[in-house]
Amino acid sequence: MSALIFEKSAPGRRGYTLPKPTAAEQACRLRIPARYFADAPPELPEVSELDVVRHFTNLSHRNFCVDGQFYPLGSCTMKYNPKINEHVAALDGFSSLHPLLPQLRGGGMLTQGALEVLYQTERWLCEICGMDAFSLQPMAGAHGELTGIMLIAAYHRAQGHRKTKVLVPDSAHGTNPSSAAIAGYEVVSIPSGADGEMDFARFEAALGDDVAAVMLTCPNTAGLFNPRIHELADRVHAHDALLYYDGANLNALLGRCRPGDLGFDVMHLNLHKTFSTPHGGGGPGAGPVGVKARLIPFLPTSVIIKRQDGTLALEYDRAQSIGYVAPFYGNFAIIVRAYTYLLMLGREGLRKVSANAVLNANYVQARLRAHYDLPYDRRCMHECVFSAARQAAQGVHALDIAKALIDRGLHPPTVYFPLIVKEALMIEPTETESKEDLDRFIDAMIEIAAQAERDPASFADLPRTTPVSRVDERKAARDMRFTA
Ligand SMILES: *Cc1c(COP(=O)(O)O)cnc(C)c1O
Repeated sequence: MSALIFEKSAPGRRGYTLPKPTAAEQACRLRIPARYFADAPPELPEVSELDVVRHFTNLSHRNFCVDGQFYPLGSCTMKYNPKINEHVAALDGFSSLHPLLPQLRGGGMLTQGALEVLYQTERWLCEICGMDAFSLQPMAGAHGELTGIMLIAAYHRAQGHRKTKVLVPDSAHGTNPSSAAIAGYEVVSIPSGADGEMDFARFEAALGDDVAAVMLTCPNTAGLFNPRIHELADRVHAHDALLYYDGANLNALLGRCRPGDLGFDVMHLNLHKTFSTPHGGGGPGAGPVGVKARLIPFLPTSVIIKRQDGTLALEYDRAQSIGYVAPFYGNFAIIVRAYTYLLMLGREGLRKVSANAVLNANYVQARLRAHYDLPYDRRCMHECVFSAARQAAQGVHALDIAKALIDRGLHPPTVYFPLIVKEALMIEPTETESKEDLDRFIDAMIEIAAQAERDPASFADLPRTTPVSRVDERKAARDMRFTA
C-alpha cells in the first residue's frame, strides 16, 4: 500500500508560496472582523508540487479502466469510449450553457443548439429502436425502468384499468423487479427453462388481466435471443398488458432489429453502455425512455417540441404527464457524447458495432467451450455465459477465477450473474477489442482452467500482484469496525 499524502508531509516543504500582501490588501484584511479568522493554519500536508503530482498520478494508475486494459464485465458493455465524445462535450458552447437560459425565440436563441442536440438524439433513438418518442431525462438504466413502469401505470390508470402485477423472468437484472416494486406493483418472477429462456408455459399461466406489464431483456442476460418474442408479445397484448424492453443489451441488435418492431411498447436505453459514454464508478449515466404513440401523453415533463417557425422549445404544460423525473433535461453532457457517437458512426457504423460485438462474443464462446461448462449450448449474441461448476468441484469457484484474472492484470467477467446459472462467468467482450486482446484474455482463462485442475490450492491467496491482495470478505461483511 502506498503512503497517504499526509505521511509524505515534510515540515516547511511548500508547493506554492504567495507574495506578501500589498498595503491595500493588508488594509482590506483589517476590515474583516477578527472572528472570521481561523486560530491556526489548516492542517494540510506540507509537500511540493511534484510530490502532489506523483502521489495522485500513481494512485490514478491503480484505477482499473478500459483505457488501460480489457474489461469484459458482462451486461455492463464496457466498450471503449472514443475521445472525440469528450472533446465535443467539453466545447464551450455546451459546457458553459446555463440550464435556465431562455429557450424561446422571443427570449433569445442561446439554447437552440443544445435543444437541437436533444431533439436530434431523440429522433435517432426513435429510428434505431422503432419507437415513436423518447425522453432523454432519466439518469440511469434503473431510473429509466422506473420511469417506464410509471408510464405504464399512468396509461392503465387513464384507461380506468386496475392492474396490480408485473411479470419478470428470473434471469432479469435485479433492477427490473425493484423498479416494478418501487412503482407499486406486485412482482411475479417467472422461472427460466432448460434453454435459458423464460418458461413459456409458466409465463402463460401467470398472465392474466391483472398484469400491467412484462419486463424482458432481449437478448437476455444469458446473451440469448428469444425466438418466440413475437408470440410472447401477442399474448401480452391480448391482456392489454404492455411489454417493457430492458435495453441494456441493445449492443447486440443495433441497426439489425428494433424493439418496437419486436412488439415492445416501452423501453429504456443505457447511453453509458451501448452509446459509449463513460461509466463505472457509479455514473454519470443516462437512461432514455422510449415509447409507442399511445404512451406519449404521459412522458415526463418537459418535452422538446418543434414549433411552426422551426425553433425548438421545452414544453412544460402537459396535463397527463407523470411529472418531473430529473432536473432540467437529464445528464446533458452524457447525451452530447452519445450524439457525437451516433453522428460519427452513422447507419453503417452502428451495424458494424452489433456485428463485431456478436462475433467477438461467439469467438470467446467457441474458444473457451472445451475448458468451461456452457449451460446453454446455443449461438450467443453480444455476450456468453459460462459456468465454473467444473472448477468449483475442485474447490475453485467463479470468485477465485475472477481473482486469478485480476492477478494477471485483466478485469474479470461478471460473476454469479445471471442468477439462473450456478457459478456464472458472464463475458461481454464488446466490439472494440482486437483479436489479439481477445486471445490474450482467452489464453489466460485457459491457463486458469488448467491451474484449477492441477493445483486448486494455489488460488487461495490470489491476487498477489495488486496493492490490496485477497481480503477476508466474511470479516468485511460481518465486522464493519475500521482497523488500520
Ligand atoms: C446495467 C443494467 C441495468 C441497469 O442499468 P443502470 O444504468 O446500471 O442503472 C438494467 N438491466 C440490465 C440487463 C443491465 O445490464
